Amino acid sequence: MRYESTRGHSPVVSSAEAITKGIAPDGGLYVPTEKVSIDLSKIEALSSLSYPERATFVLKHFLTDFSDDELIQCVDAAYGNSNFSSPDVAPVKPLTDNTAILELWHGPTCAFKDMALQILPQFLVRSLTKTGEASEIVILVATSGDTGKAALEGFANVPGTSIIVFFPQQGVSEVQRLQMLTQEGKNVYVVGVKGNFDDAQTGVKKVFSDQEFAALLANKGFRLSSANSINWGRLVPQIVYYFSAYADIVKNGTVKNGESINFVVPTGNFGNILAGYYAKSMGLPVNRLICASNTNNVLTDFIRTGTYNRKREFFKTNSPSMDILISSNLERLLYELTGKQSDKINEWMTQLKSTGIYRVDSDLLDLIQQHFWSDYATDEETLDTIHKVWLDHNYLMDTHTAVAMNVLEKYRAATGDNTYSVVASTASPFKFNGSVTKAILGEKAVSGKSEFALLNDLASFTNWSIPVGLRNLDKRPVLHQRLTNKDEIGNSVKNILIG
Ligand SMILES: *Cc1c(COP(=O)(O)O)cnc(C)c1O
Repeated sequence: MRYESTRGHSPVVSSAEAITKGIAPDGGLYVPTEKVSIDLSKIEALSSLSYPERATFVLKHFLTDFSDDELIQCVDAAYGNSNFSSPDVAPVKPLTDNTAILELWHGPTCAFKDMALQILPQFLVRSLTKTGEASEIVILVATSGDTGKAALEGFANVPGTSIIVFFPQQGVSEVQRLQMLTQEGKNVYVVGVKGNFDDAQTGVKKVFSDQEFAALLANKGFRLSSANSINWGRLVPQIVYYFSAYADIVKNGTVKNGESINFVVPTGNFGNILAGYYAKSMGLPVNRLICASNTNNVLTDFIRTGTYNRKREFFKTNSPSMDILISSNLERLLYELTGKQSDKINEWMTQLKSTGIYRVDSDLLDLIQQHFWSDYATDEETLDTIHKVWLDHNYLMDTHTAVAMNVLEKYRAATGDNTYSVVASTASPFKFNGSVTKAILGEKAVSGKSEFALLNDLASFTNWSIPVGLRNLDKRPVLHQRLTNKDEIGNSVKNILIG
């Protein structure tokens, strides 16, 4: 399998090159040149395999320049040992007759980003050898909270790499902030940005596209790469759990092999749900991919109208990992659904950059709506949903998952479609415990309390135990103090690497 850029002006590369480069030189995103199909009998056969075996099977179709042995090593290092607190890695928990929850947060940082970021460093170190890369790879990350910690955890002390994470100083929860600022490792740097996530992401993207800066770094033996969900090595492991979830549901007899199901995905940068689209395009029986947004509902508007308009108020919501107005991975979907028309992609992305708006044609909108449906949930609806699900089912969900649950209810009410639906649960409820405790115990129970006190309150009320990664966070030493303006991100990288 080879990879091409969505912008059409970069050479086609191997998967190892796509992974070491992160973003294509023309500013586009790498996508597979060929379609992958997996037939139903093979999907059914996944039912009897472990998660690592399922992962190896799916990944083999895309990472064709990796040997079977190498893939098994990568997969075992990521999912095989006790890295994940569930032996199933991504277990499916039935909630009602027609709804299940796919728990993607059993990794070390308690959010779904671990699904990809535990394995990406494994891909990357092997890719470096394959491409003969001699430079040290510097991973630059802009994070809305969860990616940063997951990437730090994945890359800490990985030879031949270092990692610099930029996070919006006011845009992450206290738990998320301390998870990052207490990160240990010889090769890790964490920098607060005075601005929101889009400021951080725009700043990091600017650094990536600065050829002069790249030359300066190359001179000093460094090469930049990305662990954001624009890296194909981030996206491809996410395809696995769509297959895995389906195989589990077939295995327990809930649906017959071949019967379509819906997936509901709380969406920010469009990486998770895009992996679902790739799974669907490979033959996984998926009816609709339901894109759930919070009040930063730029994607809801886009999927409904075909106009992408980022010129709107930015809200800080109680599902902060989805507080995003530029969903980078959408570019890959547009490329795939237009039949790979890179000229159109260039036009729209240029418009997005210069005016903040682009509009796709009605044929493409029809096609998008065949695959996707979208709505959003307000903060209040999110809390109500957490409360209701707890009362009705004794199941505790985090705010992001609750956004998806709420949007699933809206989908069913709007369409009457009662197809079996799987809700992607993207974070442990303990990770966003402030909002979750407020939802089930009321405003009074949280006021004046630190997130850390609330962790204990939530654990004792629910009898669920606090995940290891979140225990004693407030007692660990803060190891990172750097702060930067949003226009100074490049300088910050330079200071860290070169001085
Ligand atoms: C990153 C994240 C999301 C959004 O996923 P995208 O792939 O960016 O759409 C949703 N929920 C949580 C908890 C996350 O960390």
